[in-house]
Amino acid sequence: MQFLKNSLIELITQTSTNLPPDVRAAMAASGANETPGTQSSQALGIILSNIDMAKDDEGPICQDTGMPTFFVHTPVGVNQIEIRKTICEAVAEATRRGKLRPNSVDSLSGKNSGDNLGTETPVIHFDQWEEDQIEVKLILKGGGCENKNIQYSVPCMLDHLGRADRNIEGVRKCLLHAVWQAQGQGCAPGALGVCIGSDRAHGYDLAKQQLFRTLDDVNPNAELAKLEQDVMTQANQLGVGAMGFGGRVSLIGCKVTAANRLPASFFVSVAYECWAFRRLGVRLDAQNGAITKWLYRDPSRQVERMAQAEGFPLTGREIVLTPPLTEETVRALKVGDVVLITGEMYTGRDAVHAYLMKNPPPVDLHGAALYHCGPVMLKEGPAGSEEWKVKAAGPTTSIREEPYEADVLRKYGVRAVIGKGGMGAKTLAALQECGAVYLNGIGGAAQYYARSIEKVLGVNLIELGIPEAMWHLRTRNFAAIVTMDAHGNSLHADVEKETGEKLAELATV
Ligand code: SF4
Repeated sequence: MQFLKNSLIELITQTSTNLPPDVRAAMAASGANETPGTQSSQALGIILSNIDMAKDDEGPICQDTGMPTFFVHTPVGVNQIEIRKTICEAVAEATRRGKLRPNSVDSLSGKNSGDNLGTETPVIHFDQWEEDQIEVKLILKGGGCENKNIQYSVPCMLDHLGRADRNIEGVRKCLLHAVWQAQGQGCAPGALGVCIGSDRAHGYDLAKQQLFRTLDDVNPNAELAKLEQDVMTQANQLGVGAMGFGGRVSLIGCKVTAANRLPASFFVSVAYECWAFRRLGVRLDAQNGAITKWLYRDPSRQVERMAQAEGFPLTGREIVLTPPLTEETVRALKVGDVVLITGEMYTGRDAVHAYLMKNPPPVDLHGAALYHCGPVMLKEGPAGSEEWKVKAAGPTTSIREEPYEADVLRKYGVRAVIGKGGMGAKTLAALQECGAVYLNGIGGAAQYYARSIEKVLGVNLIELGIPEAMWHLRTRNFAAIVTMDAHGNSLHADVEKETGEKLAELATV
């Protein structure tokens, strides 16, 4: 199997950096369908640019390269132990090259292994089959959308939709609810992989496997095909929009399977996938491990460009922010303003927020912009004078910091919190009280934002691991939208309310 490791490294690299054609087509249609000039349309513009940038630079589309999950089919007699070992070697090498973020964290100690290897990571499923070749499929599904997976035990009562019964109508309600509850936190527009039935654990597994169907296929089961189509149509009437900004495109795919269940159980398991829908596959020669065929793509066909123009279309109405920020500057901002941050910011996400509850910050945060981001960083340069370089740096889901953020704002004087998906009532009250704002970046736009970062000025708390450390960055024209201001306004609360009302209308269609 002399070519196996290189084949797997190539599979990981392509999966992380170059979206498959069906996802590209769905995202291009999303961009074309959105109302021009809206915040969702601006978000889609950045997303489309980001897809191009990732392909051009062979950089991760999103900084969160997820839990590497492999599905492997082997002919009878092929050594699966060797394949498992080689997958692990390839994952570690792709991490070293910056194609994967180090994402494997010991759940008890909190220590990041640094190479994506650890207990039960990566995830590898094996099956035998009667073909002559090996097939390896890979999905990189990030934490933001993984956190929006949801499982319904039917019958159940759903917000705005009422009772969901044990029938297709009940499943339809669950799936609309799944899109609604994700809002922008899973980086909409998203896709659903769904399993009706099975048990709790296997149902989720089968739901995730539905994400290996192409977005444009048609379910061979007529009843499920109709359900998929109905959910697509109705979910796109909800108005969640790209990044939850409100808009016409909320869902790019709905793929449903059904499995037998116990008489007492009726689960609807939903794997919510973000727009950065990274899955690919290869067929391999079973003797030497060389790639014989790519799945999901035609290598002879040129990859089309996605964006009409590179980056963020500037209107001249953007407000330039140069941290440290004053209270006066921040109180002048209102929901809907587009800002460009030129100056310094600090990253801080889950571990930093937990740290700040018990310890003072390692830097002065008065007036600072605090970026919820777990970047991909590599040390580059001549031996002895290496410097940290940003390889991918989009925002992470902010709601995870909701239990901490109000205290951080009150205690340390942060003036701008940057993230994606919005935050809750506790943070909104603290923004108003302290004179601070929440700025929504475009989730998954990791290459776009990496280009907005001029220099890594330093790092604190590196012992927390690369994604969780506190990075000190200098940015230029870092674009974001004010979605929670210092006057008690929240675009996220407004969109959640409006889409909830729409959900109620869809309860009985
Ligand atoms: S696009 Fe959003 S949800 Fe998807 S992996 Fe990136 S940050 Fe997570």
